[in-house]
Amino acid sequence: MRILRIVTATTFLLSALALGGCQTTTSGGAVGAERKQLMLISSQELDQMAAQGYNKLTADASAKGALNTDSAMLQRVRAIATRIKPQTRVFRPDAPGWKWEVNVINSNELNAFCMPGGKIMFYSGLIRQLNLSDEEIAVVMGHEIAHALREHSREQVSQAIAAQTTIGIGAALLGLGQGSADIAGVAYKSLIATRFSRTDENEADRIGLELAARAAYDPRAGVSLWQKMIKANSGGRPPEFLSSHPTESSRVQQIEALLPTVMPLYTAARRGG
Ligand SMILES: [Zn+2]
Repeated sequence: MRILRIVTATTFLLSALALGGCQTTTSGGAVGAERKQLMLISSQELDQMAAQGYNKLTADASAKGALNTDSAMLQRVRAIATRIKPQTRVFRPDAPGWKWEVNVINSNELNAFCMPGGKIMFYSGLIRQLNLSDEEIAVVMGHEIAHALREHSREQVSQAIAAQTTIGIGAALLGLGQGSADIAGVAYKSLIATRFSRTDENEADRIGLELAARAAYDPRAGVSLWQKMIKANSGGRPPEFLSSHPTESSRVQQIEALLPTVMPLYTAARRGG
């Protein structure tokens, strides 16, 4: 019975791979991100879970009186999102039509994220404590949106499902009755404790910088942003969303290397008004 289950799970996994389990989520843009990704859960399932998680987060913050308390900051962040959203079309034609949401939580945490399907959250501490300019906010937002465009969370969840299969637990997860509930559990856990890989971070930096440039935000802000991050990092606890990131100095070099590619997009966007 046990062997049969493992065989069934393996068959499922293999057929998932054969039926386009490996795919790419975005088109290249100017900066390029062509890596094939393992996907064993649908975007719809994950977007639904993300939306539920996001609703809970905003409801909890609202109950504590910590949601969108600074209307000037909220307006700023939403205006930047409004300029970046249409630019996502370059990487994914479907993205401008997502059910985007943009909110600000009043918190000292240095954090920001964009959950699958376009649910953006900024923590006021990031903007206030690092005294971020609009351009720097745009670079952070572009980076976080890029994670959603590339569906890095969906990929992580898929990898978690695949890893469990290899140790046999996956037999229970995949296609054996109780499957969908367990997959939801793995997905939700992975969404909360997202630790993106270095490759994911690299892709998000590249795509994010292009998004900011195309929205007419000066991509050179990527350099000043990460210099501020390094400074904040040296003062003790690293910012939340830095903890899994590549070393910041190599990141600054990488951004500098991308500037010749994205600066013309910025210049053209500015000229276009
Ligand atoms: Zn990231």
